[in-house]
Amino acid sequence: MEPISVFDIFKVGVGPSSSHTLGPWRAAQRFLGRLRESGEFGGAVRVRTELFGSLAKTGRGHGTGVAVILGLAGEDYATCETRGIEERARGIAERGRLVLGGEREIGFVLAEDLVYHMDERLPFHTNGIRFTARLDDGSEVAETYFSVGGGFVVQEDYHPSAHRQVTLPYPTERASEVQAYCREHGWTIPQLVMENERAWRPEGETRAGVLDLWRVMRECIYRGCHTDGTLPGGLDVRRRAARFNRAMLGEDPSSRSSRPIEEWLKLVVKSTSDFTRINRWVSTFALAVNEENACFGRVVTAPTNGAAGVIPAVLMYYWCFSEQASEDGVVEFLLTASEIGSLFKKGATISAAMGGCQAEIGVSSAMAAAGLAHCLGGSVAQCLMAAEIAMEHHLGMTCDPIGGLVQIPCIERNTMGAIKAITAANIAIGCDPSEARVTLDEVIRTMWETAQDMGTKYKETAEGGLALHVSVRVIEC
Ligand code: SF4
Repeated sequence: MEPISVFDIFKVGVGPSSSHTLGPWRAAQRFLGRLRESGEFGGAVRVRTELFGSLAKTGRGHGTGVAVILGLAGEDYATCETRGIEERARGIAERGRLVLGGEREIGFVLAEDLVYHMDERLPFHTNGIRFTARLDDGSEVAETYFSVGGGFVVQEDYHPSAHRQVTLPYPTERASEVQAYCREHGWTIPQLVMENERAWRPEGETRAGVLDLWRVMRECIYRGCHTDGTLPGGLDVRRRAARFNRAMLGEDPSSRSSRPIEEWLKLVVKSTSDFTRINRWVSTFALAVNEENACFGRVVTAPTNGAAGVIPAVLMYYWCFSEQASEDGVVEFLLTASEIGSLFKKGATISAAMGGCQAEIGVSSAMAAAGLAHCLGGSVAQCLMAAEIAMEHHLGMTCDPIGGLVQIPCIERNTMGAIKAITAANIAIGCDPSEARVTLDEVIRTMWETAQDMGTKYKETAEGGLALHVSVRVIEC
């Protein structure tokens, strides 16, 4: 199994979906890289993109077309200006001209060059995307990629050993192995993760990179808590985080504060120690991230975009309302969470198109529960138990986004994942884990079997559940 780093699980990207926005964007970048490597980039006169399976069915609501267009135009999802993303993609479509890789202008006809195969699914994986470049000598170059969840992109003939030359000193595929390494060396989970991360880079770089993820998460919460309006896509969902923020701080509903983030955080901390209000803050943090996510905002994929609000909300809860909060704690939280995410990726899936929402919100909740349990002083066994409890109560959760938009039920669902994570961590640190009757490995296996039993219509197709009963005309680029 391919080794997975903390920076594979957590990636800076743009909303609204890791598998349907970030993955296709990365696939477009990879295709451009392939053309450049082969020396064919300079001869490309047209590029056609075909979307299959779940990418086609919910791509319009998930911004897949926008991601493909901007990826082909050479924009970088991690650094590009997030304001006006849709307008830039729409402008390219309206002009009928695309600057390939930011270097060469070629023709682009939306109806011909971005094709949604609604009734076709490629056998390897439901999220298939094929790029075909026509060259000036009349020949064609085609590559097919699969967006397998969490922004991970692979090809059918993909062999991990050919791509990653890193050998981890303490490889883990099961929670029992995590526990065994920690017991043998007297480590906590983040210590074990850091030992493995050294195979990629020095410890200082890992720490700095993880703190940078936290910076992006904080800024995302802050932006979401200070932005009003209606989400794009046609569902007319009004943003709530900013209203909640003002209400919690006792501010005038019409006020538009521009105080700096640190000052705002101090006000949040001072505002309450009351359970109901803390609960409301955690919900507000999660809403803020996922409202940003729904608007092509900059988020950290954790481990997916649809579930990007759970971990920042729980981490912000720790940061604002825990007396022991520190930057070291933040790093340890995220390292612990990444180990849990990688166990789910290796033993089950983090793709809603493969496993429904249990694979997104369920996994993020399990990750957050373990991270928080560690920060609250939990043992290794208690952290694993916290992850198990959180997932146990997400088993079977389907993915049925209305209109294929990552808004309903997705945005509120992040609040539920965050609250369950906090509950799971608190239960675990109050328990003797040797009395637990279900292990994390067992719940991961159960989640995977449940995923396989789940009907296809409940796996990010917008053809079942809420998506069937609430209709919306999706407005897209
Ligand atoms: S329902 Fe869950 S899995 Fe599906 S798009 Fe929304 S958050 Fe993601």
